Amino acid sequence: LRSNLRHFFRRNGLLTLSVIAVLTGGALGFLLRGTQMSTQAKIYFSFPGELLMRMLKMLILPLITSSLMSGLSSMESKACCRMGVLTVTYYLWTTFIAVVVGIVLVIIIKPGMGTEMESNRLGGGPVMTSTKDFITFLILPVTNLTVFLQYKTHLIPILKVPTRTFQPNFVYIIPDEGDHTGRRVYLELTPAPEVMYTESPGTSQQMNVLGIVVFSATMGLLLGRMGERGAPLVNVCQCINECVMKIISAAVWYFPFGIIFLVAGKILDMQDPSTLGKKLGWYGITVLTGLFVHGLILLPFFYFLLTRKNPFTYIRGLLQAMVIALATSSSSATLPITMKCLLENCHIDRQIARFVLPVGATINMDGTALYEAVAAIFIAQVNEYELDFGQLVTISITATAASIGAAGIPQAGLVTMVIVLTSVGLPPDDITLIVAIDWILDRFRTMINVLGDKDFPLSGAGKVKTPHNNSHSVSVPMTEIH
Ligand code: ASP
Repeated sequence: LRSNLRHFFRRNGLLTLSVIAVLTGGALGFLLRGTQMSTQAKIYFSFPGELLMRMLKMLILPLITSSLMSGLSSMESKACCRMGVLTVTYYLWTTFIAVVVGIVLVIIIKPGMGTEMESNRLGGGPVMTSTKDFITFLILPVTNLTVFLQYKTHLIPILKVPTRTFQPNFVYIIPDEGDHTGRRVYLELTPAPEVMYTESPGTSQQMNVLGIVVFSATMGLLLGRMGERGAPLVNVCQCINECVMKIISAAVWYFPFGIIFLVAGKILDMQDPSTLGKKLGWYGITVLTGLFVHGLILLPFFYFLLTRKNPFTYIRGLLQAMVIALATSSSSATLPITMKCLLENCHIDRQIARFVLPVGATINMDGTALYEAVAAIFIAQVNEYELDFGQLVTISITATAASIGAAGIPQAGLVTMVIVLTSVGLPPDDITLIVAIDWILDRFRTMINVLGDKDFPLSGAGKVKTPHNNSHSVSVPMTEIH
């Protein structure tokens, strides 16, 4: 038994420590809630957790740029195109399925029906008048497309995005507006459709991950065509990638410690659960059920259909990344660990992982899409606003778009939800109805977002990988990297 235990801890030590850290952090947080800590003390207390977040964020930029530039530069254009099309199609498909699961569940469970929610309403203005009129219905997707495109200006990093200030460079997009009260994200709704959010405290700007992905992918493709002249830069990228993976391997041992304070700090900040109504509870249950069905039944089913392999072996390999997602609420911050898990535990082809993961962490958010659809219909139910079939279709399309538009940072989905709400004539202010439990749902939907970022359709299609026979590129075997 002892040798079995030793074997188990050798293989799963880090994961076990991380799970213990989440539980310890939760318990510590609830224990300290009674002590009325000062804001200053809370900031000191959260410091080890903040350090963990910063470590992860530090790695995002070098990881994405080096992965995409070195990965794409050594592939033929045709193979790149095929991989891009397959990946995006698969991601859109699973996101859409997630939305459908959410819609079906919220219609069956009806969490927002009844009367007792009224006292909890904070901002709800009147529901906009009926949008059943055919012409309005036709116009709405167009207006929403405008909102969506405003978010998507992040695609081209040099463009000015809808913020109040000048955009300094392609890495950052939103300046600090933090209130330094310890809330990680706060939301500011200006007259629709402009919505802003920031992170605080200490995190001065939000990284434009989508812009970085587009820029690096373009550079990677061009470097691949330059042959010998591009070789030095490709080699630099490969070295950076190797270093980043080594840093990740060392940093993960700090994570369990950081997780304790990250989770405890969040619970200290949590709004008092006694203010939550029964409907909000049912809404939470609906979202969690949807995430469970999508993540543990449908995604594994698709995986099995496409690869004929055991999906749970795959999920087991990703567990470490999912625990980090639970602790950080950020799929972008989790990206380095997701990359490590896929390469080391799931033995994914490095070239595929280097492309699929940065793109997936940016645009593929199944959990967020599911939650956006449930939340929008929940808000309609609370307002006793009946949605017809056309509006449900509109919700499914806009929830998919809003999830693509959401950044991989804490509670970004809450912000892009304005797209979904306005598309069916619901007041964007009613986001305040679900804010109280959003921080916890965010953690679980981020786990599903991370679980959805993988190479399912590509792992079976080995032909996708067609490395360039370029003698200049340093080919590093996986064993050397880790
Ligand atoms: N926190 C989520 C993520 O990082 C995004 C969201 O749904 O708010 O994936």
